[in-house]
Amino acid sequence: MTARKSRGNSGSGQAAADQIAAGLARLGAYMRMAGWQAAHAQGLTATQAEILGHLARRGPMRAGELAAALGVTPATLSDSAAALVAKGLAARRRDPGDGRAVRLSLTAAGGRVAQALAGPPGALSAALAALDPRQAGALLRGLATVIRSLQQARAMPVQRMCVTCRFFRPHVHDDADAPHHCDFVNAAFGDAALRIDCGEHEPAPAAEAAARWQRFDSAGADRPGAPSAATDGTPFPSTAPGRTGDNRP
Ligand code: SF4
Repeated sequence: MTARKSRGNSGSGQAAADQIAAGLARLGAYMRMAGWQAAHAQGLTATQAEILGHLARRGPMRAGELAAALGVTPATLSDSAAALVAKGLAARRRDPGDGRAVRLSLTAAGGRVAQALAGPPGALSAALAALDPRQAGALLRGLATVIRSLQQARAMPVQRMCVTCRFFRPHVHDDADAPHHCDFVNAAFGDAALRIDCGEHEPAPAAEAAARWQRFDSAGADRPGAPSAATDGTPFPSTAPGRTGDNRP
C-alpha cells in the first residue's frame, strides 16, 4: 500500500485537494527552478544554498540538526557542508555548550551570499505582495493548517509557526481583523500576519498546543456559527489581553 491516496474516492473535497496539490506542485517546481538558478549564479548547489539560508535564519547548528531541519540525509549534509567550508562560506566550530560537539556556522562571506539568496524569487514576491490582507490571511491560515498536519504525521520537520508557539493566543480579541495575540510582543494580529517561520517561536507544551490549535481551527473568523472566542471552553483567560498592535516581530 502506498502513501498516496486513491484517486477513485472523489467528491468535491477530493477534487479540491487534487487541484490544490496541483497548484502547490507548480509553485514548488517554479521555486525549485528559481532557487537552482540563483544558487548556480553563486557557484552553489541547491542544498548548499539551503544550508546557508538556514544558518542565516537560525544561527550555528550541529550537522544532525541541520540534516533533520532540511530533510536531507546525513551523508548529503556532510558533503554539502564540506563544500561550503572549502569555499570559505561556512566554518566548523566547537559548540560552546558541549566541547565535544561541533556546529556549522556562516563566515562573513557566507553571510553575504545568504543575504543575496534570501527571499522568494522576484516575480513570486510581487505576486504575493499584490494579495489583499483577506487573501493573504486565508492563504497563510491554509498553509499553517497543512504544514501542521504534515508535522503531526511526521512527514515534515517541525516548523516555527504561530500555531505551535507557546506565545500564540488565537481568537482572544473581538476584532475580526486582529483576533489573535502574541504574548512575546504583547500585540494583537490577524491571519495575514501569521508566521510560518518566526525567530521568536518557542514550542508550546503538547496539551497547550492541542488546545490552542482547537481554538484556532474551530473559531476561524470567517466561519459561520464559529464559537465565541470567550466561551469555547479552552483554557485561555476570558478577559482578552490589551492590544498594543504596533510592535510585532
Ligand atoms: S509571532 Fe512568533 S513569537 Fe509571536 S506567537 Fe507567532 S511564532 Fe510565537
